[in-house]
Amino acid sequence: MAELASVPNVHRDDIEDILIDADRLESRLVELAGRIDEDYAGREVLLVGVLKGAFFVMADLARRLTIRSQVDFMACSSYGSATSSSGVVRILKDLDTDIEGRDVLIVEDIVDSGLTLDYLMKNLRSRRPASLEILSLLTKPTRREVDLPIRYVGFEVPDVFVVGYGLDYAENYRGLPCIATLKPEVYGG
Ligand code: 5GP
Repeated sequence: MAELASVPNVHRDDIEDILIDADRLESRLVELAGRIDEDYAGREVLLVGVLKGAFFVMADLARRLTIRSQVDFMACSSYGSATSSSGVVRILKDLDTDIEGRDVLIVEDIVDSGLTLDYLMKNLRSRRPASLEILSLLTKPTRREVDLPIRYVGFEVPDVFVVGYGLDYAENYRGLPCIATLKPEVYGG
């Protein structure tokens, strides 16, 4: 695994596999930014990042857009087990911005069951934005429990737990420059 050279030493022994390396992440975000530039040409878009996982995607996407854009963030906690959500969501940090009449693009790290985003979509739609779309870097289609219109998808991943590029396991590994899986023993197995 040549790409392991990009992983900090302290994490290298924990990585089982690198699913998406930094170059692929970068080129996919360039493509998605290009599509957003075209789709929103002549308009401005409010990017709403869902914390914490979306901070890398948000930074890398926002700096590639050539249209006018602003950023805002939300943080939610989802009740459920460590690895699956229940769909009952609590908003820990709300937007600073009034989104009525705005073109809003939610920026997510990963959509799994889709329950968290389904709740967020309903919540944000009730604030009457002019448009409301979703970008998710990753999606696990086989896990989906609700039908979600994800307009921009970076990559489809299988039903495995992934870390890196903003995604954590127990708050670690968010800083990895790639999307990776962890060795089973890391989970205490
Ligand atoms: P959903 O409501 O779609 O089931 O859950 C979405 C949230 O679960 C994501 O925003 C993320 O926080 C977490 N999640 C789902 N799958 C993974 C994964 O493979 N790795 C990590 N680190 N988090 C995940």
